[in-house]
Amino acid sequence: MTVELAKDLGLSEVYGAFVDNQFKPVKGAVFHATAAATGEHLADIARCGGEDVEAAVLAAERAFPDWKSLQPEQRAAYLHKLADAIESAASRLMMIDTLDIGRGLWETGIDYSIAASQYRYFAAAIVTHEGFGRPIPNGYLVAKREPYGVCGQIIPWNVPAIMAALKIAPAVAAGNTVVIKPDENASLSTLELCKLVAQIFPPGVINVVPGFGEEAGAALTAHPRVAKLAFTGSSEIGRIVSVAGANRLVPVSLELGGKSPNIVFPDVDPVDVDAIVDNVTFASMYCNGQSCLAGTRLFLHDAIYDDFMSKLVASMKRIRIANPTDAGPLLGCLISPKQGRRVQEYIAIGKSQASLVTGGERAVVAGCDAGWFFEPTVFETSNESRLAQEEIFGPVLSVIRWNDYERLIHDANDVRYGLAAGLYTTNMAKALETADRLQAGNVWINNYFNLANGSPFGGFKESGIGSEFCRETLNMYTHLKAITMQGRVNPAWFAPVH
Ligand code: ADP
Repeated sequence: MTVELAKDLGLSEVYGAFVDNQFKPVKGAVFHATAAATGEHLADIARCGGEDVEAAVLAAERAFPDWKSLQPEQRAAYLHKLADAIESAASRLMMIDTLDIGRGLWETGIDYSIAASQYRYFAAAIVTHEGFGRPIPNGYLVAKREPYGVCGQIIPWNVPAIMAALKIAPAVAAGNTVVIKPDENASLSTLELCKLVAQIFPPGVINVVPGFGEEAGAALTAHPRVAKLAFTGSSEIGRIVSVAGANRLVPVSLELGGKSPNIVFPDVDPVDVDAIVDNVTFASMYCNGQSCLAGTRLFLHDAIYDDFMSKLVASMKRIRIANPTDAGPLLGCLISPKQGRRVQEYIAIGKSQASLVTGGERAVVAGCDAGWFFEPTVFETSNESRLAQEEIFGPVLSVIRWNDYERLIHDANDVRYGLAAGLYTTNMAKALETADRLQAGNVWINNYFNLANGSPFGGFKESGIGSEFCRETLNMYTHLKAITMQGRVNPAWFAPVH
């Protein structure tokens, strides 16, 4: 990266932990933020450990009483200001993410509009997040919702703007303060978000500790003053975070992996087929397949299989593989060489165990020599295969032919995950029956990724615990306190009887 572009983007040369609205001076080790496509150095970032986490948690703890005491309307006003600031800075922030992660600008731009709307959604929702009350003999019961205190939140690299918003917005709206650990592959935009936070929020409400999972992440999950943990990432690390929470008996919410089915019924209207093909393509290739929600198992009915498949192949071949900083829809590169090699291994497994339909090769993009670009890749396979069972996190779609409805339901559910599912049919009765029988937290009928603000987003089975994106999330970030009131003091038990 040229020094000029780094300056244009307003990047700092080095970022420390963000505590009490300030970046701490960096004394220890750093790691490098590099552009995914070109390998160019973007910035140095502090590799935080126990000491930084301690400082951040204590700052969050100090900020908690005053933050909690604000009226919901006052906290909401802060969130609206943050949303305004994100919208104003979006073109800069989306470029930072595009460089850092390798996803196209058209995608990271959408990330920021979703992120801003999350802050606004929870600003609105907290104002009507009421407890409840009821009369009891000679008095009243009031059940109020109280924030936990300091929340430790750990996020992955695929959609940093959305991930930060999904964690910060509900927690802070509900009166908690937070310490967030961004992913070591994609910390830059969360650290840049801190510069906006510093202009808006009281010190200590939002703190960020960049670093590695086993260091900053583990220190955060083990910290005795962290009252609630929230994690998004792989099911493997989710298990570790869950154990850390269990050891300290604090609640843990988890958004984990997925291997979602996308089901095409034979009765689809022929005029809709192109749109369905586009949905299937988008479901599997959005975010380069690096999304827990990706529709990576396509169940395609026998009766329409060949025609649909040839359209799907044409759709995959139409996708432009390009420099992520180009405009318009495109497939950028994967986040890192490590992820690239992982996807390459799965493609090799596919070539030996399944039937390759299209793609399957690394692609070269001029000027992006460090990037791991892949052709959109489609295999025909069975649901039992490793390709269909394991989360690949790359542009790889497994297609499974079906003709028996009961077998379809069995296979669609026969994975360890249960995050999302898509289905396409003109038979609404069948659609509703299928939606009921699918083990998934989100079922999208006739449109994939149909996530609106307020739509619960959470997984069944090994895809997670809890729901984000919705009012219910505020319950995840608060606990109930019951307070009873009596007009007179009544004798309790052993008082003498007169
Ligand atoms: P992905 O598979 O999406 O890369 P991971 O589950 O590996 O996701 O990582 C998600 C987040 O969890 C990252 O911020 C990472 O640093 C963090 N992490 C990894 N290991 C641990 C751990 N042992 N304790 C806490 N956080 C961790």
